[in-house]
Amino acid sequence: MTACVSSQVGCSLTCKFCATGKLERIRNLNADEIYDQVAIIKKQSEDNYNIPLSNIVYMGMGEPLLNYTNVLKSIEKITSPEGLNMSPQRITVSTAGIAKMIKKLGDDGVKFNLALSLHAANDEKRDKIMPINEHNNLEALREALKYFYNKTGTRITYEYIVFNNFNDSLKDAAELADFCKNTPCKINLIEYNPIGDGIFENAKIDRIEAFKKFLEGKNLVVNIRRSRGKDIDAACGQLANKH
Ligand code: SF4
Repeated sequence: MTACVSSQVGCSLTCKFCATGKLERIRNLNADEIYDQVAIIKKQSEDNYNIPLSNIVYMGMGEPLLNYTNVLKSIEKITSPEGLNMSPQRITVSTAGIAKMIKKLGDDGVKFNLALSLHAANDEKRDKIMPINEHNNLEALREALKYFYNKTGTRITYEYIVFNNFNDSLKDAAELADFCKNTPCKINLIEYNPIGDGIFENAKIDRIEAFKKFLEGKNLVVNIRRSRGKDIDAACGQLANKH
């Protein structure tokens, strides 16, 4: 049972495939507001399903590294004996890629996992879908991730949404494999959840399988992640207001 929590109300990063990116960033959540999401989901999981909460991912609304202090404070509380006493190894913070803050995580010696929403290992393509890439390009991210790894010894997780006819070719897979050589890592290939604007589509399953096979042939650890919550427009990238 995994809790996916938000770090901001809205988001300032305007990733093109994400419904939250179409909202403005209204404000940062404070540490207690982030902690409460976890505490409430934990209780619901135990009360309704009799399953303990096993993992926490900072992958809801917002860019966690742009709300750095509150995110770290919330994790401190989640992991402390006075809080939920959970292991930091069960927590993953996901970033769209703020190089300077990734290095700061390394300097702060954090013990939780770090995921990078990569989605393209080619600057031209990444610029098109993630404007943050213009100031935090792949070279800057490569360097920051290496720094983080050297400081913490934690392997990086790469999140890669596979879009139909955009980043699903074997050439894209080869670029991804090359980027992944940087540090020990694992790769999650993610199903795309359409947000109703018709611009992006989920890749075909045979293309995703071929993509995965290519990466495995390069000795990389790869998982295909199926998404949940689409039935209520609450799956990855779909969090937004509904009227
Ligand atoms: S994918 Fe994440 S960083 Fe990008 S707009 Fe959506 S919430 Fe913000």
